[in-house]
Amino acid sequence: MARSVLVFSPNSLPDPIVYLSEERTSIGRSPGPCIFRFGGAEAARFLCRSCPGYGAQANARYRGANVAQLASGEQYRCKPNQNHVLCQCCLEPIPDRRGDPNAHLVVKCHICSRTFCDQYWAAGCDGLRAGPRCSSCFSKFKDMNFDARDMDGIILNNVFESDIFKTAIRDTAESDINVLLSTCLKRASDGLFKLKYVESADTVVCKDCARKELSELAYQFRVSDVPNDRLPREVTSRDACWWGRNCTTQRKNPDHARRLNHVCEQTRRH
Ligand SMILES: [Zn+2]
Ligand SMILES: [Zn+2]
Ligand SMILES: [Zn+2]
Ligand SMILES: [Zn+2]
Ligand SMILES: [Zn+2]
Repeated sequence: MARSVLVFSPNSLPDPIVYLSEERTSIGRSPGPCIFRFGGAEAARFLCRSCPGYGAQANARYRGANVAQLASGEQYRCKPNQNHVLCQCCLEPIPDRRGDPNAHLVVKCHICSRTFCDQYWAAGCDGLRAGPRCSSCFSKFKDMNFDARDMDGIILNNVFESDIFKTAIRDTAESDINVLLSTCLKRASDGLFKLKYVESADTVVCKDCARKELSELAYQFRVSDVPNDRLPREVTSRDACWWGRNCTTQRKNPDHARRLNHVCEQTRRH
């Protein structure tokens, strides 16, 4: 059976992150055993960018400073027995400062409660690594930076309806997903569209939760801004699925998704 080996050894590596062996690809395919190999208790301790010792050990990538700059501007040094939480994007530790009255913490997604470091460090999530940093895994909803791939499945997580939508708006400004987001937020602030998960455009959320909210907004945009005359006849001539937008079969059965319209409300209850 393929083994996936996770090596965690801050003593021998330039910075204290979890390193994956080249067998990483087997993680996705097989639920085989994961072996955590630690170089003793000291190596197993999580060191974050604010921990004493982190700077010296990671100096090649740490860009000189001894105390990591925090986005809030405050100074912070981890205590000897500091508890840490892991950023769910880069897997780097962040000091767990819940309950610290001096902490200006923006690390928890308002919707799913997972922790992210992007708004905590001045350098951001992944900001100390070589190569491009992660692309906004955690921010105010209105500042979220989506890319074209986020359009896939944007309507009801139904690939067929999403393709119909993408084709229909191809020649409009909203074909750019970030323009679509700002147009929808403008409609929401005018009271025309409803936000489902976030309280406002300023709610700080993770990328996954932001995608869910954008998908809700895109559905409303599809209903209000893509009239039937902009759609091909084979799309508009379809019968409506009784379960409408709430149908779960539309995501499992491509033939069902193609044959019936799901951009409509549910008309059957049992
Ligand atoms: Zn620390
Ligand atoms: Zn979230
Ligand atoms: Zn991170
Ligand atoms: Zn990130
Ligand atoms: Zn259906």
